[in-house]
Amino acid sequence: MAELETPLFRRVALIGIGLIGASMALAIRRGGLAGEIVCAARSEATRATALRLGLVDFAYAEAVEAARGADLIVLATPIGAFGAIAAEIANVVEAGAIVTDVGSVKGMVFRDVGPHLPLNVHLIPGHPVAGTEHSGPEAGFAELFENRWCILTPPEDADQKAVDKVVALWSAMGAKVELMTAQHHDLVLAITSHVPHLIAYNIVGTASDLEAVTQSEVIKYSAGGFRDFTRIAASDPTMWRDIFLNNKDAVLEMLGRFVEDLTALQRAIRWGEGETLFDLFTRTRAIRRSIVDAGQETRAADFGRRAPGE
Ligand code: NAP
Repeated sequence: MAELETPLFRRVALIGIGLIGASMALAIRRGGLAGEIVCAARSEATRATALRLGLVDFAYAEAVEAARGADLIVLATPIGAFGAIAAEIANVVEAGAIVTDVGSVKGMVFRDVGPHLPLNVHLIPGHPVAGTEHSGPEAGFAELFENRWCILTPPEDADQKAVDKVVALWSAMGAKVELMTAQHHDLVLAITSHVPHLIAYNIVGTASDLEAVTQSEVIKYSAGGFRDFTRIAASDPTMWRDIFLNNKDAVLEMLGRFVEDLTALQRAIRWGEGETLFDLFTRTRAIRRSIVDAGQETRAADFGRRAPGE
C-alpha cells in the first residue's frame, strides 16, 4: 500500500498496545498515515517492547501523556478499562480531536466513554473484526486488517468529516468499512463471535472436567473437532470476561435461542429423527461454503485466524 503524501493525522495516540494496537501502529506506519505515533501502556515491559519493535515514537506510562496533543486517540485496551481511561484523558483531549476505539462491544462505549468527553471532541467508536488468539505487542502484524471488516458505529449526529477520517484510516489499513448502529453491532457480534466463544470455552471446560475420559485421551483424539474449539478457547481471558459483562443483553438473547435449538436437536437425536439432523447439517454446510466464497475463511478449519506465514 502506498504512503500518503500528507498524513491523515498529526499525532495518533494508541492507549494500550497489544495485538490490535501494535497491528494498527504497523499499518499506520506502513501507510504513512500519521506524523507521529505514540502509545500508553501500563507495564514497563510492554512500553519497552513497543519501542524495541519500532511501533511507536514515544511510549508513556500515563494515558494523559499520550493523549496530549493527539488529533486521534484510539482506545485499544480491554473494554472494561475504557471508562477509567476516558475519565483520565478528558481534560487534555484537544478540541476537534477524534476519539475512537477497537473494542468488541459498541453500546458500552457510549455508556462508559461518551459522558467523560468534552462536547467539542468527536467520539467515533469502531471494531475491526479481525484477530488471532495471541495477545501483546509482539503478536501484532501490519496485514491483520487486510480484507477484514471494520465496523464503525458513529452516533446519529456525528460530524461527517470526523467519520470520513476514521473510514479513511481503516480503508488505508486494508479493511473494508461498514457503518451501523452500536445496538445492531452488538446483536450481530453476539451471534457471530460472542456466543461461539462462549460455546468453545464451555465445551473445553466440560471436556477438562470429565472423569471417565482422561485428559490425555482428550488431547490425543482432539482432531475429531475438539481441537478447533481449543483454539478459540485460548483467547485472552480478560478481554472475553469484559465482552460478556458488557454485551449481556444481546448475548443472553442469542444464547436463549441457541439453547432452544439445542434442545430441539437433543429431541431429534432421542427420537431418531435423522431427517431433522440431515436437513440442518445440509443448511449449515452451505453457510460454511458462503463464508469461504466471501473470502472470510480458507478451506482449512482455522476460524479465519491464521497469522501470515503460519
Ligand atoms: P492485548 O493484546 O491483551 O493488549 C491489551 C493492551 O491493553 C496492553 O497494552 C495492556 O497493557 C493494556 N491494558 C490491559 N488492561 C489495561 C488496563 N486495565 N488499563 C490500561 N491498559 C490496560 O489486547 P488486544 O487483543 O489487542 O485487544 C485490545 C482491544 O481490542 C480489546 O478491547 C478487544 O475487545 C479488541 N479486539 C480484540 C480482538 C482480538 O482478536 N484480540 C479483535 C478485535 C477487537 P500491558 O501489556 O501493559 O498489560
